[in-house]
Amino acid sequence: MSSTDRIHNFSSGPSMLPLSVLEEAAAEMTNYQGSGMSVMEMSHRSQVYIDIFNETKANLKRMLKVPDTHEIIFMQGGATLQFSAVPLNIIGRTKKASYAVTGNFSDLAMKEAKKYGEITVACSSEDKNHSYIPQQSDIKIEGDESYFYYCANNTIYGTEWKYVPMTKDVPLVCDMSSNILTVPLDISKFGIIFAGAQKNMAPAGMAVVIIDKSLAGKELPFTPKLLSYQVMIDSDSMHNTPPCYTIYMLGLVLKWLEKQGGVEGMEKIKIEKAKILYDVIDESEFYRGCAETASRSDMNITFRTPSEELDAKFVKETVKAGFDNLKGHRVAGGLRASIYNAMPTDGVVALAAFMRDFEQTNR
Ligand code: PMP
Repeated sequence: MSSTDRIHNFSSGPSMLPLSVLEEAAAEMTNYQGSGMSVMEMSHRSQVYIDIFNETKANLKRMLKVPDTHEIIFMQGGATLQFSAVPLNIIGRTKKASYAVTGNFSDLAMKEAKKYGEITVACSSEDKNHSYIPQQSDIKIEGDESYFYYCANNTIYGTEWKYVPMTKDVPLVCDMSSNILTVPLDISKFGIIFAGAQKNMAPAGMAVVIIDKSLAGKELPFTPKLLSYQVMIDSDSMHNTPPCYTIYMLGLVLKWLEKQGGVEGMEKIKIEKAKILYDVIDESEFYRGCAETASRSDMNITFRTPSEELDAKFVKETVKAGFDNLKGHRVAGGLRASIYNAMPTDGVVALAAFMRDFEQTNR
């Protein structure tokens, strides 16, 4: 199979990467820029690798406009390990934290945090099967919490926060695993942002953490060394061997992103792509969107046909037609198209055409 035989891959993560990035990585696979080695084979302390690392980190800092008050760190363990790292590092101040529960991953994060302090639910969308994002006025914060936690994009339910919550000076912690690098941000508003790499950034195996440095260094005494943000800051993410190849791939993705107009360019493109699919859903009596309109995600489009049987038929026929990974997550059911940065508009247009055809033949 050549690269031209690639399918339209709507996976929620690990997700597709830009084809040109994969081709560049392939071209450099056995001999990175005359070094005579693959990036996979390099010492992480070698100058050639340090240059890759520094350039990647500097580009991420520039593209996300990370202020000097904040530090970028690269950690292993995916986003899930951050569910533990966050409370271990910053709940110590008041032993309290407040969580917005708007889906599976914020629920898991909250349950993990309960091991380390007193956790309250600031707001929840569980009453309507996580089909919406609560409003600012629904958020209950006392003001003495060590942090307030939310998940900016709910990958499974297809909802996305359209605003940054105001938290009475309580540090804001945000899981941006499925929408980082898709919308410009004022990073100075956040205490901690973290994101698993495998959707909008790179292959799996890493979480990017952006932390206000003043929050680090106050971890609970039993925090594993590798989960200490301060240790990671002091060692520039190299206390031990970092996920070298994933960081290199992130570097290639960032250069690609720059050519698309950076985060600002990506924001325009993602709004257009999401609209193409939401228009099909909104114009149809056959498809039903799972999320409330005002809370719909631009990354994960969740929808259903009139029956579970037709959902299953849809999945089967998409595979035959050159698409994949359109089945909804097992906890939510239905269908889901994940359209992160690397999904080209062409792929979305092709899926919209398929959806219209499928509706014609099955309604
Ligand atoms: N948070 C969100 C929003 C996610 O979508 C996911 C996984 N898809 C996770 C956390 C967990 O990520 P990981 O598998 O990297 O631990």
